[in-house]
Amino acid sequence: MVFAHDTEIALAAAAALVNTAPDSATGDEEELAGTGDLDRFVLAWGWTGRHCRDDAELLAVQALRPRLRRIWEVDQDEVVDIVNGLLREFRALPQLVKHDEWEYHLHATAPEAPLATRMAVEAAMAMVDVVRGGELARLGICQAPDCRDVVVDLSKNRSKRFCESGCGNRMAVAAYRARRSRDAG
Ligand SMILES: [Zn+2]
Ligand SMILES: [Zn+2]
Repeated sequence: MVFAHDTEIALAAAAALVNTAPDSATGDEEELAGTGDLDRFVLAWGWTGRHCRDDAELLAVQALRPRLRRIWEVDQDEVVDIVNGLLREFRALPQLVKHDEWEYHLHATAPEAPLATRMAVEAAMAMVDVVRGGELARLGICQAPDCRDVVVDLSKNRSKRFCESGCGNRMAVAAYRARRSRDAG
């Protein structure tokens, strides 16, 4: 494990959230088009606490994505500015809590804070660990030529190059086909 368990989950969840955004450069479609999509995302990532299932909540979550994506794109000092800005804006107050099936972990917002606020602060708190650990190089962009999804590399040997949406398999199949056609020729 590179980071604490809750940090690793928060990083994966933040990357997954960023990667739901549409991208005109790659033709990636909006994956949080409706409140039902957000519902499924919240369930899939085990978000607890307030969840109103209305358009305002959906818009706030959608609007958070480009702010979080910047963390993957800028240098350390700018990452720090973004992270500190989020923690200040949402008045993060770290507390150890235990709920549902989870052992003690950090929450820095109240469970009744808006979903987008809790998502922002959880991502920011996880980034605090990344920066303090000198591990920013673990945040990258998918190496597949037609993909710009963000990647969190939590592997021991820092070998992760592709995002979670199947690019690794896709690239492996493409390489295999290229090899086969070369061998056949
Ligand atoms: Zn929790
Ligand atoms: Zn990808």
